[in-house]
Amino acid sequence: MSADADARHTESRHSMKEDLHVHTRFSTDSGADMRESVEKAIERGLDRIAFTEHWDEDYPEEYRELIRKANGTDGMKLHPDFDMRPLFTFDIKEYFEELGRVRALYGNRIRILSGIELGLRPGRKDILKKYREMIDEYRFDVILGSIHLVNDEEPYYPEAWKRHGADALIGEYFNNMLECVTEYDFFTSLAHIDYVVRYVPEELIDRAAPDYFREVYSKNAQTIDKILGIIIKRGQALEVNTKGAFTQIEHVHPSDEIMAAYKRLGGNHLTYGSDAHYPEKVGDGIYGI
Ligand SMILES: [Zn+2]
Ligand SMILES: [Zn+2]
Repeated sequence: MSADADARHTESRHSMKEDLHVHTRFSTDSGADMRESVEKAIERGLDRIAFTEHWDEDYPEEYRELIRKANGTDGMKLHPDFDMRPLFTFDIKEYFEELGRVRALYGNRIRILSGIELGLRPGRKDILKKYREMIDEYRFDVILGSIHLVNDEEPYYPEAWKRHGADALIGEYFNNMLECVTEYDFFTSLAHIDYVVRYVPEELIDRAAPDYFREVYSKNAQTIDKILGIIIKRGQALEVNTKGAFTQIEHVHPSDEIMAAYKRLGGNHLTYGSDAHYPEKVGDGIYGI
């Protein structure tokens, strides 16, 4: 192949600029306006955007007050109905109505996909059944599968880390993920695969250590390779989530080590998402934006 043809090939493979992981006010932890988010996506030259709102069925109520306390920090804005809904759920009918209005306004300038980010929980047949029914009924274009809780504990807060220690909690996170990936065969992309490393408290690890991510991978390689093998075989994608680059870990998800394993195992189906929770962040870190 000539250099020119090679450049064209590379260009066409990446010609679709997408942000397939965006939150708006339908997510418990976002106050973003869908129209403003679409306008930002158009301004940044994206070809498609997916609104993937949080749904974490039976998210522990004990965290409601902590979430309320975080309101206003890091651009977070709670939904006006915050106290009237189970945490991390939304009115799906209202969501599709808003999506329809936004498509009518902007649909000729950008492709607007429906989506949902499902919080996966191992061994919960009730949740598995509920999610199957939801996606059968609503036919979302993008279904992200995420692990946000480790054995029902929230790694976002330092308590779980203090209780279990870094190695044990990270190990359990990937164990939970392996169980879930085995059970939930219907998500279209596995989101932020090493999300948990974002929240290890500073006193437990040296994030600046160059071998930190290598260590996380090598300690969990068997489990991670199994997870990757399952999604590759089923044709489910792996998400490149750029949010990590703007957090304390200063690196996109997945780490280089996990990405190398994915490629080694034959994976070639990636989706890109900013995980924006407010409009200014849409497209951040994708395609050098
Ligand atoms: Zn997530
Ligand atoms: Zn998200």
